[in-house]
Amino acid sequence: MHDLTRCVQHPPISHEGFSSLAVPTYRASTIVYDDPQSFARRSERGLDGYTYGLHGTPTTRTLEAQLTALHGGVRTVLVPSGQAAVAVTMLAMLLPGQKVLIPDTVYPPVRKFCEDYLTPRGIAFGVYDPLIGAGISELIDDQTRLIWMESPGSGTMEVQDVPTIAKIAQAKGVLTGCDNTWAGPLLFKPLAHGVDFAVEALTKYVGGHSDLLLGSITVKDLALRKALKDVLRMVGIGVSPDEASLALRGIETMGVRMAHTGRIAKEFAERLQASPVVSRVLHPALRSCPGHELWKRDFVGSSAVFSIVLKSEFKDRIYPAMAALRVFAIGASWGGTRSLIAPMNVTGDRTVRPWDSSESVVRISVGLEEPGELWSDLESFLTATAAA
Ligand SMILES: *Cc1c(COP(=O)(O)O)cnc(C)c1O
Repeated sequence: MHDLTRCVQHPPISHEGFSSLAVPTYRASTIVYDDPQSFARRSERGLDGYTYGLHGTPTTRTLEAQLTALHGGVRTVLVPSGQAAVAVTMLAMLLPGQKVLIPDTVYPPVRKFCEDYLTPRGIAFGVYDPLIGAGISELIDDQTRLIWMESPGSGTMEVQDVPTIAKIAQAKGVLTGCDNTWAGPLLFKPLAHGVDFAVEALTKYVGGHSDLLLGSITVKDLALRKALKDVLRMVGIGVSPDEASLALRGIETMGVRMAHTGRIAKEFAERLQASPVVSRVLHPALRSCPGHELWKRDFVGSSAVFSIVLKSEFKDRIYPAMAALRVFAIGASWGGTRSLIAPMNVTGDRTVRPWDSSESVVRISVGLEEPGELWSDLESFLTATAAA
């Protein structure tokens, strides 16, 4: 063999005796075939077969299978971000003339997608009160094809009655999807409560280290999986095996990370209720949180993200007081090892349950730093907020 050929053909080596606990990162654009017949008939391999790198590798399939098992579904589809998971589900399910219902507390870019992408293409959306429960029935009309849920709600943490909404939708032949990023599959399983699409931003707790972007959609119906994969193939969306590999590492420690940070976050939430600058703490495990009883009924625990509402007289102090923080970082994408804090602009994102703009919301995500040091940091922030 010529050296130039040797350069591009890797020699086969033995794998005998090599048994590793890690999932290999299989990178591939092209998949090669044993003979021209198999190549010509590659589409017969179906969605579970390997035909082209974009449609899946053993690395991405491993992560999909793991999420499917955790959610109790039949298949999972990976997409490049949590936002893509929501958008792809809507694109796959909605046709012009149809309508999607979204909660007022939906992840804000999803409302934007409905307003600025779906609406100009003749797909309508309606916004509902996240606490509507069985009242959703009155909002379902002949156009309604999909009801979106997100529980607890972005920033303000209202817990939705997912099983009731799913049951009513199902009786009317309407599909349901739930953005489950806050709880992840360990704390809440939407499919077990009758939901058709369980969506996760793997970017958050599964990735767990603020260094990857991925989303997933888990379904319990192969036809829905096909509809999602059809959209991905047509628009040319796939995920990198390197991202999937990082997520496969992250998911191994998700249980201990979430148990620890969830416990500390709940302790902080309870203690923060006593702060003279805090008017309310929005954490599903607290009785004061709208939907707390539903959280107790349906969830097996709480994650590490919650919000505090600061008294209106301290509104102008919040930004300058954040300069006092030494451990918390200011940022949006929670679920990593670092604790994050972020002032939220809620008022502009609410149309059904108006949010009083004098009520400032600050979102807190607890990470893996030493809890005492984190609490001191929060206290410095609160003290600086109170200082006139
Ligand atoms: C972060 C987040 C998303 C978006 O995830 P990305 O991977 O950042 O696109 C969607 N929904 C919820 C509830 C989130 O918190």
